[in-house]
Amino acid sequence: MAQQRRRQRIVAFIGLGANLSNPIARVKAAREALRTHPDLREIACSRLYRSAPLGPADQPDYINAVMAVETTLAPDALLHILQTVEADHGRARSGERWGPRTLDLDLLLYGRETIETDELQVPHPGIAGREFVLRPLLDIAPQLDIPGRGPIADLLRACPRLSSPLIPVDDDST
Ligand code: ADP
Ligand code: MG
Repeated sequence: MAQQRRRQRIVAFIGLGANLSNPIARVKAAREALRTHPDLREIACSRLYRSAPLGPADQPDYINAVMAVETTLAPDALLHILQTVEADHGRARSGERWGPRTLDLDLLLYGRETIETDELQVPHPGIAGREFVLRPLLDIAPQLDIPGRGPIADLLRACPRLSSPLIPVDDDST
């Protein structure tokens, strides 16, 4: 890996999603793995939200959340951590895009940087049009402005609504 670490601390936003085999527990476990990682410091984590799936309809509901972390890691090193946590929590890659998966961790934002490499696009290309990303982002960073896209409050207003509403998950459910 070219450059593991940068001197500057940056705030990165991570999207967490799951829709198979106890998705609430998966998302909570992924958050815990990231929260306790020695190279990451959690700044905030949204509530968990439940929504109907994007893409093929014959899959269970999704659970989504967004967390903000502070780190000095380079973006590719951070992506590698996300992929390791995905693997540790048993993500099954069926090959079907938007198909069911046990855990999906996306690097939504890395400071205000724009990154376009073969393995990493930041801001994440799906960020502006997905209510299940924008709504939890608004919970933890209401003033956030996405480079090249604009304030998230405006993006959320313009975003197509899901066919079924996003529902905050009761904190006691598992
Ligand atoms: P999606 O999250 O779009 O449903 P996947 O999680 O299966 O699809 O996609 C994983 C691939 O996306 C990885 O190979 C990774 O290199 C690439 N990728 C590009 N940009 C990002 C990003 N910002 N966050 C996470 N993965 C990304
Ligand atoms: Mg992903």
